Amino acid sequence: MSVIVQNITKKYGTQKALDNVSLIINPGEIVGLLGPNGAGKSTLMKILTCFIPPNEGSASVMGHDVQEFPIEVRRVVGYLPESNPLYTDMYIREYLNFIAGIHQLGKKTKQRIDEMIALTGLQLEIHKKIGMLSKGYRQRVGIAQALLHDPKVLILDEPTAGLDPNQLIDIRQLIREIGKEKTVILSTHIMQEVEAVCDRVIIINKGLIVADDKTANLTSIKGEDLIEVEFDKAILAHQFKSIPHLKNATKIDGNNWLLEPATNKDIRADLNRWAASNNISILSMKKKSISMEESFYRLTRK
Ligand code: ADP
Ligand code: MG
Repeated sequence: MSVIVQNITKKYGTQKALDNVSLIINPGEIVGLLGPNGAGKSTLMKILTCFIPPNEGSASVMGHDVQEFPIEVRRVVGYLPESNPLYTDMYIREYLNFIAGIHQLGKKTKQRIDEMIALTGLQLEIHKKIGMLSKGYRQRVGIAQALLHDPKVLILDEPTAGLDPNQLIDIRQLIREIGKEKTVILSTHIMQEVEAVCDRVIIINKGLIVADDKTANLTSIKGEDLIEVEFDKAILAHQFKSIPHLKNATKIDGNNWLLEPATNKDIRADLNRWAASNNISILSMKKKSISMEESFYRLTRK
């Protein structure tokens, strides 16, 4: 396992930023940690990179416990912090040399820096000081820095925040490329980003994991399809009780209702039978898929 988090709780004062969080991340996965601001994403990443300790629980990266073996953990983890702190007065190579020194790369330094510059596409801007670079290029420097010591696990905290649409596409592409070789955990509050980049999504809200699934199964996270139906007469809510697998009925207006079936149930045939036996006509019926944004909102507004 690349990352194991067991029952981690982190409090700032009395506030719980993480509440008994557990997860396992397998080698080679690209995992999206998705949640609104304040969900606890950065806190979890800081614990995994040994910047802050948890109050309860334990975590390990590539088998090294973050509290017992922080030096070993840092050797196997690359980290791009949320604010991507860089030395703006340094040239790109100068900065990467400085980072290589911290990791004691020795003779491998020049080769690794060249490789990372090529991988992250920094050649074009290589003559510039970091302070002169666009946000997109600064993120590339941040990613190059995180990858320099060839870590097995890469942790990127909101790597695309503040990028324009073109830069966004480039950085996502770069992350996918890197993900072929490494385990990647990235945080974001953008659902489409997870869809575009990640194999798996972990949704976190107020310190709790509220969903964890393969991105391909996002439909199960999306929740069920709703059915919008128009009847020929007024219906009273209690009349719906006899429809099997109907979870919820909400009146939209007039004789229009929004029906929510129970998990994985298609209630349309039963709905027709129910209408016929109650002498009700269905004038129209259409399936309404919950959008990603809406389901994210539903999962995280609590
Ligand atoms: P996210 O990265 O998902 O936006 P954070 O992990 O940064 O969330 O924050 C989780 C919660 O912990 C938030 O309510 C935030 O205000 C709080 N928090 C984070 N860092 C600190 C800190 N150093 N001191 C006090 N509260 C903090
Ligand atoms: Mg954050």
